[in-house]
Amino acid sequence: MSNEQEKVYEKVVTPSSGLRLHLNENTAGCSPKVIEALQAITRQQAALYPDYDLARAATASRLGVRPDELVLTNGLDEGILAAAVSALRAPRGEAIVVVPAFDMYAVCVDAAGGRVVEVPLNAAFSFPLNEVRNAIGPHTRLIFLTNPNNPTGQCIPRQDILDVVRAAPHALVFVDEAYADFAGQTLIGDAEARSLPNLVIGRTFAKAYGLAGLRAGAVVGHPDTLAPLGRVVPPFSLNVYAATALAAGLGDTEYYEWYLGQVRESRGLLYRALDRLGLRYWPSAANFVLVELGDDIGRLIDALAARQVFVRDRSRDHACAGCVRVTTGVVAHTQAFVNALEEVLCGAA
Ligand SMILES: *Cc1c(COP(=O)(O)O)cnc(C)c1O
Repeated sequence: MSNEQEKVYEKVVTPSSGLRLHLNENTAGCSPKVIEALQAITRQQAALYPDYDLARAATASRLGVRPDELVLTNGLDEGILAAAVSALRAPRGEAIVVVPAFDMYAVCVDAAGGRVVEVPLNAAFSFPLNEVRNAIGPHTRLIFLTNPNNPTGQCIPRQDILDVVRAAPHALVFVDEAYADFAGQTLIGDAEARSLPNLVIGRTFAKAYGLAGLRAGAVVGHPDTLAPLGRVVPPFSLNVYAATALAAGLGDTEYYEWYLGQVRESRGLLYRALDRLGLRYWPSAANFVLVELGDDIGRLIDALAARQVFVRDRSRDHACAGCVRVTTGVVAHTQAFVNALEEVLCGAA
């Protein structure tokens, strides 16, 4: 891993129309309650610096923590950046990233002047506990763990996470739970996790709540551990629309449960189709599935795109040759993907 090669987030350009199954977005759109709340925002409110009391209280209550145990961020990306900037100020600071991983860890570590230490996942993408432990050194300041992982959809055993946190008391362990809603498991509220001061948990409202365009996330942890991150986040980082949307979106649990149900059904639907087609995949705990299309991946992605179906090429990620990541959200959208995939595989292009 060289420092000379700077990491940039690969912005994939796709039209706003068509089936966007490449960014793990909630393609149903957000809760209608969010739009109602946004429409009620007054001229006066738009002219004032936002107040976060309501959004913070709603987030704390939904996540089951006290309001001082979280920092609201402009998307979880900003939480990752804040962790990198605050943890890597010391000279020669290193951050451990288990790969394949979400791109923003390396991007933010680079931007903060730190050095990325990559640890590859085991075969079949299981968590490499011993290798992560061995990678911890005196310069380790930050460790990113993603549960469930993006792009593999695999979970890390709870005990492995706690072991890493204990093995690196001098580092901040950032457990990214962007997809925890779909996995149905979280370290928030876990008594043992709460006793470990060097652990923070990142959550986003972009995925399950469908607020990716509005930008809202949170980092949860002990108030003393969060303080340095909180100083990196500008005081008015979420605009009034995001703060209003967050409170309204978190309140619509019916909509949230509906989307979670769609995701469960979509994954089953996709697995059955992939079994039929003889394609390899990794059963996922998130709202996406990693699928191996093989050597023909380039042609297949293009042929899908020609049918207005967009999936994410992950073939350049560690151990992901020939693989795409497909969002499994709204059942009708997953069915449309399956139909398009069958067409392009059967050469009807
Ligand atoms: C999407 C994603 C995020 C970023 O979420 P935003 O709130 O949209 O910034 C963070 N971590 C992982 C693993 C993600 O996939």
